[in-house]
Amino acid sequence: MKPQDFPEEIRPHLLPEKSGRLVYRCLGCGAVHGIENLLYTCPDCGQVLLIQDEDFERLKKVPGALWHKIFDYRRMLKIPAMKGIYRYHEFIGPVIPLDDIVYLGEGHTPVVAANGPLQELAGMAFYFKNDGQNPSASFKDRGMASALSYINYLVNSGLSGDILAVCASTGDTSAAAALYAAYLKPHIQSAVLLPHKKVTPQQLSQPLGSGARVFEIPGVFDDCMKVVEHLAEHYPVALLNSKNAWRILGQESYSYEIAQDFEYDMKDKVVVVPIGNAGNITAVMSGFLKFFETGIIDTLPKIIGVQSAHASPVCRYYMEADPARRKFVPVTVKPSVAQAAMIGNPVSMPRVIHLAEVYNRTAGRPQVFFVEVKEQEIMDWELTANRNGHIACTHGGESLAGLVRARQQGIVGEAETAVVDSTAHALKFAGFQEMYFADAFPEEFEVRPDPRLINRPTLMRPDDLEKVPAPGKPLAGEDFSRFVRRISEEIAKTLNLRRT
Ligand SMILES: *Cc1c(COP(=O)(O)O)cnc(C)c1O
Ligand SMILES: [Zn+2]
Repeated sequence: MKPQDFPEEIRPHLLPEKSGRLVYRCLGCGAVHGIENLLYTCPDCGQVLLIQDEDFERLKKVPGALWHKIFDYRRMLKIPAMKGIYRYHEFIGPVIPLDDIVYLGEGHTPVVAANGPLQELAGMAFYFKNDGQNPSASFKDRGMASALSYINYLVNSGLSGDILAVCASTGDTSAAAALYAAYLKPHIQSAVLLPHKKVTPQQLSQPLGSGARVFEIPGVFDDCMKVVEHLAEHYPVALLNSKNAWRILGQESYSYEIAQDFEYDMKDKVVVVPIGNAGNITAVMSGFLKFFETGIIDTLPKIIGVQSAHASPVCRYYMEADPARRKFVPVTVKPSVAQAAMIGNPVSMPRVIHLAEVYNRTAGRPQVFFVEVKEQEIMDWELTANRNGHIACTHGGESLAGLVRARQQGIVGEAETAVVDSTAHALKFAGFQEMYFADAFPEEFEVRPDPRLINRPTLMRPDDLEKVPAPGKPLAGEDFSRFVRRISEEIAKTLNLRRT
């Protein structure tokens, strides 16, 4: 639909103008810093930052019911800048003019209901939200669209020269960063640091294909992160990890979409996300809080963060029930199939602590929970989900395993409805499925396949069949007929089919 065809009351809100007064706010000392320069930590105290809109009050003047209409009508626009996460422009990056917004097809990922058998196994109604259907096949595109749109704006308006963007990654951040940077070349180029042999071949192929400079570093993600922080501190590079608060803003779109997809009714809803560096759960809490404060939703959904026991520093922190006695201790990670979340010292931990406290206080009761799951449960639930028509990655399996745990622990009741985050596409982590099917997991993963979940291809090559076709060497005549007949017979036998 064209802008002039929308109802009168919507038209003034349809295409947002540049607005808002965004600042970086330090979570340590509370200092406020301007956004003209890219900052990742507070120059005064070194703590992480969140971006805050000092003019947020203006958004509360628009009634919640009108916001609903604005977002629903924006769905009909054909303008690229409004098709992705910036449908929620006022909440994500109001200082960025629509012309500078980069849209590569991110956001608005499908919310798919679990079928009857799977709901039965999980013990409740739930949906997967398939963030693997983003352009680089993970949710990281949400944050990258935001960070790169802002950088694009800085470059286009002459506030910055050309930029070299760097990130450390467990695979998906670098895939997303490289993709968006490739689109914005030559003014923006990217270099990514990956822990050597700790990303899947599919993930490694992504930044290589996008033309990024790719560096493999000995160690694990936490080691790469230290190198990237050193680079950002001492050299003229832009850091694209979720330490960059612009990433968080973009990832808030995940919450906004859930709200919109459920007609803004968040009563008895449970949102389940895996935690690695903790940027995503930060964004999910922040997003729902903003929609709550502006009256767009009138209930804060329950949020459950899930970690593997092989990398669970956040869960361990919250295991201490008394907030006054909690103390954050980084952990040494063990190998995990939820490889993108294999992080022992999450950069966003201070943000989580801050926002979980605000979230629970605003809700008037505990609404943020953390559960730990085993590697075995992650694999079993991923494969079970996919056997029921989903495309969950290992982290999607981790989320579902976490939901089931939360049900068992009484954190979630039968009458609630969950939205489970499959943060990436199953194909990125196909290697773990292969290891499961071949019972080839190295000891330290502690995964034993459930025989009922194993699936393998069967090679059909009957011994009595002398000639078979090969590429460039087709069969003809009686040879070909015999081939077709014999293979069909063998398949029919295997499948117990009787001739009609
Ligand atoms: C990055 C990532 C995570 C972890 O998200 P954080 O924001 O680091 O907590 C989980 N799953 C996938 C597929 C990821 O790429
Ligand atoms: Zn500070």
